[in-house]
Formats: sequence, C-alpha cells, structure tokens
Amino acid sequence: MARKFNFNPGPSTLPLPALEEAQRRLVDHGEGLSVLEMSHRSPTFQAILDDAKKTLGRLLSLPDDYDVLFLQGGASLQFAMVPMNLGPGGAYVNTGSWSEKALAEAKTVGEATEIWSSKEGGHRRVPRPDEKLEVPSGAPYLHITTNNTIYGTQWRHVPDSPVPLVADMSSDFLSRPLDVSKFGLFYAGAQKNAGPSGVTVVVGKRSVLENFSGASWVPKILRYQTHAKADSLYNTPSTFGIWLCGLVFRWIESEGGLEEMARRAETRAALLYEAIDRRPDVFLGHAEKESRSRMNVTFRLPSEEAEKRFLAEAEAAGCIGLKGHRSVGGIRASIYNALPLEAVETLASLMDRFQP
Ligand code: PLP
Repeated sequence: MARKFNFNPGPSTLPLPALEEAQRRLVDHGEGLSVLEMSHRSPTFQAILDDAKKTLGRLLSLPDDYDVLFLQGGASLQFAMVPMNLGPGGAYVNTGSWSEKALAEAKTVGEATEIWSSKEGGHRRVPRPDEKLEVPSGAPYLHITTNNTIYGTQWRHVPDSPVPLVADMSSDFLSRPLDVSKFGLFYAGAQKNAGPSGVTVVVGKRSVLENFSGASWVPKILRYQTHAKADSLYNTPSTFGIWLCGLVFRWIESEGGLEEMARRAETRAALLYEAIDRRPDVFLGHAEKESRSRMNVTFRLPSEEAEKRFLAEAEAAGCIGLKGHRSVGGIRASIYNALPLEAVETLASLMDRFQP
C-alpha cells in the first residue's frame, strides 16, 4: 500500500522506520508480551522511559538543571497547569487562536494579561526581534506560542524576558536547535513532530518544576512537582505513546539531530513559499514574510471554488490534510519532520501548474 503524503496539522505523519519498529515489536517486545500489556512499573518499561528521556535530553542538549516530564491532557491541559503552578498574573503574547486559548484558560485560574497581540491584522506576524515586550512587574512568567499552527506564523528568535519564559511549542518542537536555558518551561503535545497523541512533553527548569508556587486548592495531580518527584510515573502514563516517542527521538538522532531537522524544514518550506511567490496572481500567503512558519504554510486562492478544486487535485496526487483550519479557511500545508521531501515537491509542482 502506498503511504499518503500526509499534510495534516496533527496528528500527522510519523517516521516510517519508527512505525515499522513499533509494528515489528508490537505483539512481542522481546519477553513474550507487548509494551501495551506490560506494567508501567516493570523494569522493561522503566528502561523505555529512561531511554526516551535520555535521547530527548541529548537532542535538546538539556542542561543539568532541567527535567523532562511525559504527561497527558495535551497542550490544552498545560494552558491550565502553567498558571496553576507558576501563579496568577502571567503575561501573554497573543499570536493566534492557541495563544488566545492559553490566555483564556489562565484567566479562569486568576489574573492574566495580554501584553501584545497580532489579532487586529489577522494574526499575520509575530513580534519583531527589535519590538520590546512590556512585561508587567511582578508577572510570574511570560507566555508565547513559538509556532502558530492555524495562521502559519513562527517566532525566529527567542525574546528576552525579565521573568521565566514559558512557551507552547506544540507545532515546532524538535524541528530546530533550541537554547533551552532561555526558557523556564516549555511544552508540546507530541502529535506533530514527536510522536502520537496522548503524550504531552513538558521541559522545565528543575526550580520551576519542583517549587510549586500555586494556590493550595490546586490538586496534587495538576502540580508539576508531583510528576517531577515521581519521574512521570505518579499515575499510569501513556506507556505506548512514550515508547513511540522514544522511537521517534531515536529516529531524529539517527538522521542527524535537530540541526538536520532544521535544514530539512527550511528546504521544505522554501519550496512552498517560492511556489507561492512565483504566482502572486494565484496564491496569497497569509503570513508576513519575516514571520513565515517552517512548519505550517498557509495561503489562499482567488476563490473558494478554486480552493476546492486545488484540494481535489492535491488529493488525486496523494496529498491529504491540506484544508485550512475552519476559522481561517484556505489551504494549510503542515510540513513536519517526518514528511518526505517528495511530498512537498509533489505539492509545489501542483502549485506551479494549477489553473485557478
Ligand atoms: N497549541 C498549539 C500551538 C497547537 O497547534 C495545538 C493543537 O494543534 C494545541 C496547542 C492544542 O493541543 P492539544 O490538542 O494537544 O491540547
């Protein structure tokens, strides 16, 4: 069976070698049972967890004073856990729907302030490197969304922050090298670049994770401290999901690590942005050039009818998952780590010959 060129925004395409390794060992991991069937307290699962954590640590060049948690509940639960753990009064940069959701959730916990927004212009850009973000004094953290999956914009720099920087990296996690030491904490639902849905990776400074500074009503299970102390085994984690994440981390490492992922992301994105720019009469890119995402390329065609035909022609060429998010419409090509270059070349070639 030919695999589709999967441009879905997430869950999305996973590296074939990781899927095949999971398939090969699904029924018997080596001791007469599947990872799906073994205790999360068994030495075998502990080794799987340790390996996933160590491999991720190497990929990120994780400093010693940082720790990794494998949680559940998606990035959406992090929208709530961040203010519950770091305290009310967080400062938020609003660069799209996910930032808005993070801010709205923080407001259910306590106070939270929007300090910058691209909403008026239709979320076409993120702050420029020279644009100063005014963080209110006393804010416990500054929250950003590094890649805006729906609008197709991405931060290319890490902003200076006088308070711990917290980032939702759901849609560009593991797509480029990162200076971890600039962040107090970051999180990502795994289902784009890191593995299957059901696992949320949280990376944080030990002092941020271990020193709970929220209110006494915050349940134990929603405190980072609880999960950090229990090494992500406070309750039953997504054992299968963590195993798969580990296989994906190993694949990234064997392919050359985050530098290589970034190089491939630049190549894939350039092919599509060049196709957009070659035909300005046909394609209208959503993001301003300096803010263009290397993960989600968003554009419109002259009419909805043309967009429908474009999607149909793309599907006939094996390219699926290209319909833009329901809130913005148009086309969105999500081009995560595991998407083969051939998929992007196929789409770019369709863009060159499409008759609107
Ligand atoms: N943040 C970003 C940037 C996303 O792209 C998504 C989902 O696509 C989410 C948060 C929500 O993630 P989850 O469904 O894992 O809660």
